[in-house]
Amino acid sequence: MDDFDSSKYFLGTLCKRGHRYNDTNFSLRCLSGKEECCVCVKEYRKEWYLKNKEHVKEHKKEWYLKNKEHVKEHSKEWNLKNKEHAKEHSKKWYLKNKEHAKEHSKKWYLKNKEHKKEYRKKWYLKNKEHAKEHRLTNMKMRWTDELTIMMREGEKELERLTLLKPSHTKGV
Ligand SMILES: [Zn+2]
Repeated sequence: MDDFDSSKYFLGTLCKRGHRYNDTNFSLRCLSGKEECCVCVKEYRKEWYLKNKEHVKEHKKEWYLKNKEHVKEHSKEWNLKNKEHAKEHSKKWYLKNKEHAKEHSKKWYLKNKEHKKEYRKKWYLKNKEHAKEHRLTNMKMRWTDELTIMMREGEKELERLTLLKPSHTKGV
């Protein structure tokens, strides 16, 4: 036999529709209200719904059409009220937690700063040799570049001097 919640139900006399509880000669009845058979109540509800389905729908629709404007107005009002309330609430929260939030972000920054420093240090140690090599190459390249520029400038200077020579000037 299945257990039933004895705080809500009890086994009463067999109902009009003869809904037996398992194989007993009793019906499971609700302790509350009219102590009706549970299965009957379910059936009644279903029957009523099926019978009144269209009517309920129609009624709901009618109610909605009748109260449409009111509902709209009401929800608008509610939204506005709620918006102000939410704003007020977040403002209050901010003021209350301002110091805390500040402190928190400061702590986060400090913690992160250390972490970043640590990370950079670790990266450097790991890539020290590589970084050195890289820097050296960079320096060499820069030096070569500078030399090239100097040489070019020297050539230009030489060219200018050559052009200034009277033998190369064209008569005006
Ligand atoms: Zn019944």
